[in-house]
Amino acid sequence: MNYETTIGLEVHVQLATRSKAFCGCANNFGAAPNAQTCPVCLGLPGSLPVLNQAAFELAVRTALALNCQITDRIQFDRKHYFYPDLPKAFQISQYDQPLSHDGHLDIPVQEQTKRVRIHRAHLEEDAGKLLHEAGDGASLVDFNRAGVPLLEIVSEPDLASPDEAFTYLTRLKLILQYLEVSSCDMEKGTLRCDANLSVRRQGEAALGSKVEIKNLNSFRHVRAALRYEQERQVAALQSGQRIAQETRLWDAALERTRPMRSKEEASDYRYFREPDLVPFSVSPETIGRVREGLPELPESRKARLMRDDRLSSYDADLVTSSRRLADLYEATVALHRQPKAVANYLISELLAYAHVRSLEIEAVAVEPAHLAQLLQLIEAGAISRPVAKNVFVEMIESRVPPGEIVTRKGLGQISDGAALEGIIAQVIAANAQTVADVRAGKASAFQFLIGQCMKATQGKANPQRVAEQLRQSLSQQTGGS
Ligand SMILES: [Zn+2]
Repeated sequence: MNYETTIGLEVHVQLATRSKAFCGCANNFGAAPNAQTCPVCLGLPGSLPVLNQAAFELAVRTALALNCQITDRIQFDRKHYFYPDLPKAFQISQYDQPLSHDGHLDIPVQEQTKRVRIHRAHLEEDAGKLLHEAGDGASLVDFNRAGVPLLEIVSEPDLASPDEAFTYLTRLKLILQYLEVSSCDMEKGTLRCDANLSVRRQGEAALGSKVEIKNLNSFRHVRAALRYEQERQVAALQSGQRIAQETRLWDAALERTRPMRSKEEASDYRYFREPDLVPFSVSPETIGRVREGLPELPESRKARLMRDDRLSSYDADLVTSSRRLADLYEATVALHRQPKAVANYLISELLAYAHVRSLEIEAVAVEPAHLAQLLQLIEAGAISRPVAKNVFVEMIESRVPPGEIVTRKGLGQISDGAALEGIIAQVIAANAQTVADVRAGKASAFQFLIGQCMKATQGKANPQRVAEQLRQSLSQQTGGS
């Protein structure tokens, strides 16, 4: 019996505004507990919320980039539930009239493009945070996060596998980063995800019972939790059990999900209109202005680089895999019109540099002018590639132009015949056996001698010149003996 999997994702994005959604408190991560609070976000009697226009516009910006329709009339609702991190005992959210609806996001699936429909994206406020490490069995509460603007992006159940869910999330995050609407840092909770999954027998019309999974701190956890849940549900159905509709928690240490509570219905929240925020309509001018401010998104940027710079699909994918990398690429190419060389260097050297140090590309400071100069030095043969590698690292860490590093440290490539002659003579004298092997026709022995010359010059010798001159010296010696 074959089974089909249906997955839907709810992504919460904290919008990168200076202040909170409905009050003037700062929206910064990492301040002292409760330092960023006021009567509004603490829900004190008599306080009134005011919508933050920047939060609203970032929400519209994201909705438009996800091809959503913007709702004519914006209004907010109260979603009631009791929890100690929610001071008002309700969350200001949007219920039946979300800010935007009916969008889509295209993702690559097996060399094809799959369209994942976006059901809705609405604006709401975040809750505070409970701190359970206080000791003595007590928990403390920090309301700095209470009232921070959140955009909830809900997909239709169009995803058919945990891998597709992973791709969707990666793609969505990339777009959010291009839009600069959020820091998208899952460790700091500025990007969070809940997933729901159901399984049914192939060909069955109705969807299976939906299980929601919470506590997913990384995209890899989302994928692992969905894989686990998929197997658990198929095994249960095969043994004739029924799947309970419930919310489960992902336990990353044990790599399994466990029941948390039975799923609430919308009616459990007793939604009603937020009477303190008047409804308003969004003018076509506002939508037009926000739309005009949208940056070029990864998909079209990739297509443009393939068309105008003749990059391969693979290179263009990597270059556009972060906005920062793509910006750096374009700024460098503007100074040094060698797109392929620039792309190669960024992909091989910069990505490796960041990877080895576990850094995000955004955290690596590279000046386009420095990178352009480094590539010019390599292409002119002024420095060898091994030396360039070291100069690249030093140029990032010291922010000194590569030309200056090369001059100051005397790293220029040695192509001068007289300078190489002495080094080659020394290497020949010190490796009599290898020289004999070369004469006996062993190619690897010749390569070894080149390696020794490179080593003696700390990589500064021009390897082609070394090879030519070495061959010459060896044949002269043969001729002389
Ligand atoms: Zn406040």
